[in-house]
Amino acid sequence: MLNLNRALLTMNKNKILKILSILKKEFPDLQVPLRHRNAFELLIAVILSAQCTDKRVNQVTLKLFPQNRACTPKDIISLGENSLKKIIYPCGYYNTKSKAIIGTTRALLGKEVPENFEDLIKLPGVGPKTAQVVQAQWFGKDAFPVDTHIHRVCNRIGLVNSGKNRRKTEKQIKTFIPKKYWSNLHLQLIYHGRKTCTAYKPKCKNCPLYDLCEWKDKKI
Ligand code: SF4
Repeated sequence: MLNLNRALLTMNKNKILKILSILKKEFPDLQVPLRHRNAFELLIAVILSAQCTDKRVNQVTLKLFPQNRACTPKDIISLGENSLKKIIYPCGYYNTKSKAIIGTTRALLGKEVPENFEDLIKLPGVGPKTAQVVQAQWFGKDAFPVDTHIHRVCNRIGLVNSGKNRRKTEKQIKTFIPKKYWSNLHLQLIYHGRKTCTAYKPKCKNCPLYDLCEWKDKKI
């Protein structure tokens, strides 16, 4: 039985347990959405995914990474900044993203992508969210990176009450959901946000969480 920290709950404990159980049943097979073959590829893909769809990132990394082996920092450096910008242009913010990718790649020349949070966020262009995605999705660590889907879904359902502050969403969830559930829950919430609880016109009628959701604007 999931042991929740009752003192910090924003909603009834049984409701939270039901929500977690429904999400688990809905998304039993949790695939990582960004295509990658090693930690370095995942890190680059996550940097590219800011303000961009995973589908677009996967199209771009198909061109950016070598076809028959995993990409290394040397491959990116040998491309040069201009070629890199041309390839990643479809992902948007290509100037900022190329700077982050080149900075991170230089810092990683001859090294492995670090596993721990403090070392990851020292890399240029790697913030807490990117670091936690790599931790959760490659290293299998307990992490709860909050993207736009997770932030929206958690607030609508009533799991948190964090306004526009994504870091607050992360902090609130982490106070009452035990660590071992974080990594799977973050993917389940992303998938629920994409499939059903979309930003515009959420499909409330078909939502498995309808009866539990506390959003006052949920559609009948
Ligand atoms: S009922 Fe609507 S708002 Fe609530 S979780 Fe489902 S889709 Fe989202």
